[in-house]
Amino acid sequence: MPGPMPHPRAPETFRVKSFGCQMNVYDGERMSELLGAKGLRAASDGEEADLVVLNTCHIREKAAEKVYSDIGRLAKAGGENPPMIAVAGCVAQAEGEEIMARAPAVGLVVGPQAYHRLPEMIDRAVRGERPADTDMPANAKFAALPARRRSGPTAFLTVQEGCDKFCTYCVVPYTRGAEISRPFNDLLREAETLVEAGAREITLLGQNVNAWRNDAIGFDDLIRELAKLPELQRIRYTTSHPNDVTDGLIRAHAEVEKLMPFLHLPVQSGSDRVLKAMNRSHTALSYLKVLERYRAARPDIALSGDFIVGFPGETEAEFEETLRLVDAVGYAQAFSFKYSPRPGTPAASMDGQIAPEVMDERLQRLQAALNRDQLAFNRASLGKRCQVLVERRGKLPGQWLGKSPWLQSVHFEGEAGIGDLVAVELTQAGPNSMHGQLLETVAT
Ligand code: SAM
Ligand code: SF4
Repeated sequence: MPGPMPHPRAPETFRVKSFGCQMNVYDGERMSELLGAKGLRAASDGEEADLVVLNTCHIREKAAEKVYSDIGRLAKAGGENPPMIAVAGCVAQAEGEEIMARAPAVGLVVGPQAYHRLPEMIDRAVRGERPADTDMPANAKFAALPARRRSGPTAFLTVQEGCDKFCTYCVVPYTRGAEISRPFNDLLREAETLVEAGAREITLLGQNVNAWRNDAIGFDDLIRELAKLPELQRIRYTTSHPNDVTDGLIRAHAEVEKLMPFLHLPVQSGSDRVLKAMNRSHTALSYLKVLERYRAARPDIALSGDFIVGFPGETEAEFEETLRLVDAVGYAQAFSFKYSPRPGTPAASMDGQIAPEVMDERLQRLQAALNRDQLAFNRASLGKRCQVLVERRGKLPGQWLGKSPWLQSVHFEGEAGIGDLVAVELTQAGPNSMHGQLLETVAT
């Protein structure tokens, strides 16, 4: 096997490629800021970067495999002068040593809780070392990151990381570590700088975001405090866990105008036996009851969820219980996945692994039901007048694209600019987006 490639030249340009969840998008932005502070420049579109950071996802097998194909492609693309490759994120955490052994083109490996050390690791790689850092103390990372200076109209803010729930299929507790909540004052400061930098909507992020807590300050208190920032127009949060929902959080949906009427609450399955085998510690009924309470507080709330089909031992009848739950809820949108065995998780060695063709067929039926409901939700929105936060130009001349309060993508034409909050009437509904008629500009 060829030896490690030295990188005698310090990189001047970089590209960060993030895969997977929104928390990785947040981490990718923070790594870009770190590299900018080190004096590197983001490579422009089409330009080969001297340093490529692959910010990886380990949640399902396909996501993890992508890393190796990307490394191979990058190593070849540079010819005589390949870029320095840094593997970051959850694959780095779970398979750091294997990556170093399997892929000599990789210059360094950095786990999701250690990326604040990226600048010094690059220096070490330039000196010919192959540093690997997969330490786990999450708050140390946040304290070491530079202040936020740039933001589009929508921004992510990670408030909570890690997970102690150990669902039997999931790698997150192993790759992201134990649950931690970032300090309240740090979050307030980061939110203020994001708003100063142009953010009008902040999405609070966490693997179990609603588990955030600082002593007596609960997640709903955090939302209420952030809502006091005058220029911040909208607050969202994702992903919630059914067991961490509090009365205070539900009340906030009725009382805090800036908190958008949208909830992403994964359920995974509609079968109590499967939920138990998944170690979800909620039942289908307790989940539905949580949704009922949200709907009582905020009747127009748009609901979203995550589903896994083909968990080991899932029978046809149990899968049909999932379909019945979907029918009962009427989701505005949702994510659905085939079960993917992850090394080291209890479910990977359970009896009754489901054949791929059975999983395919179940996923198709589930997605047909979810798509039907998404279109129905969009059609039921026709005629509604709402605010749209403009995120970018649309594909057609004079067209703009933004999001409704219910997280629908809305196209419209007329006088507007990025970051404007405009009033529109929703006039056309498709499966994945809406068209709107501009009424007036509400605020900028
Ligand atoms: N913490 C959140 C929760 O429990 O609801 C979800 C976080 S996880 C990053 C996002 C989604 O990936 C999960 O809700 C689940 O549907 C899916 N997922 C996780 N592990 C999986 C696996 N081994 N196979 C298929 N899907 C998986
Ligand atoms: Fe994974 Fe379960 Fe934790 Fe969500 S709650 S991150 S699915 S272990």
